[in-house]
Amino acid sequence: MKADDKLFGIMPVIGLGTWEMTGNICIGGVASALNLGYRHIDTAQIYGNEKEVGKGIRQSEVKREEIFLTTKVATFNLTPAGINRTVPESLERLATSYVDLLLIHWPTGSMVLEDCLETMFGLKEKGLVKHVGVSNFDPGLFTKAMSIGPVLTNQVKFTPWHKEFENLAVARAKDRIITAYSPLARGGIVNDKTLGKIGSKYGKSASQVTLRWLIQLGNVSVIPKASGKRHQEEDIDIFDFELTPEEMESIKKIRRLLH
Ligand code: NAP
Repeated sequence: MKADDKLFGIMPVIGLGTWEMTGNICIGGVASALNLGYRHIDTAQIYGNEKEVGKGIRQSEVKREEIFLTTKVATFNLTPAGINRTVPESLERLATSYVDLLLIHWPTGSMVLEDCLETMFGLKEKGLVKHVGVSNFDPGLFTKAMSIGPVLTNQVKFTPWHKEFENLAVARAKDRIITAYSPLARGGIVNDKTLGKIGSKYGKSASQVTLRWLIQLGNVSVIPKASGKRHQEEDIDIFDFELTPEEMESIKKIRRLLH
């Protein structure tokens, strides 16, 4: 496996998360990640950084068409009119004519799922969006979404401390992808002793073991956020070792009550 390997020939297995990256840190962070080999960038309307993500892409040495770019429709825009109005605004901020993936950021009680997804599929037909997906859907709602149309992924929090095996099983059964967000438990996982011990055998850190475990599960793409080059280099350096089946199982059994 390599950093630019694509699940189902579509989504690179590792991407850069950009939540809470703003201003020049975001522009520089996106550019540096792309120059290091990342080919997948995750943003959202609500992050307030689509403009900076777009600038980072242009500042990098990588062509737009080589990048898998995701944005997400904010909960308060989840109506057909809201989606049709705000996705072109996102594209303008990102300075691109399309996103590779458009997600429903979070389901709401007032959202009409069919209407939202049909509107997003309409944007796909118009070429503004290449793929449609969802985020923070439970397995039942994810299943319902996939029955409405071609939903590529469910982006959910997934770490050795917070597992999403039911959603993963649902994705696998339909050849879809789980995108693992907050894969490093917002940085907390770096101090996990069990993961650190497994990593020491390979000269790898607890973060690297975590990201490797997630992608090695199959049907999973990871989007760690790292603002600077040092963490970005570490997070993408996970393609030169392989966890044994026993190690994969022991990580499955890690328990943590927080998160
Ligand atoms: P995360 O990726 O689990 O962790 C990010 C934290 O880990 C940052 O503080 C980062 O520090 C640190 N870090 C990164 N690499 C490290 C390393 N090798 N060693 C030590 N520390 C390291 O957290 P996240 O930002 O919540 O999640 C990732 C992305 O998922 C987000 O940015 C966003 O794109 C997406 N997300 C989506 C949703 C959703 O509702 N769909 C929700 C949450 C997140 P530095 O920044 O200093 O490098």
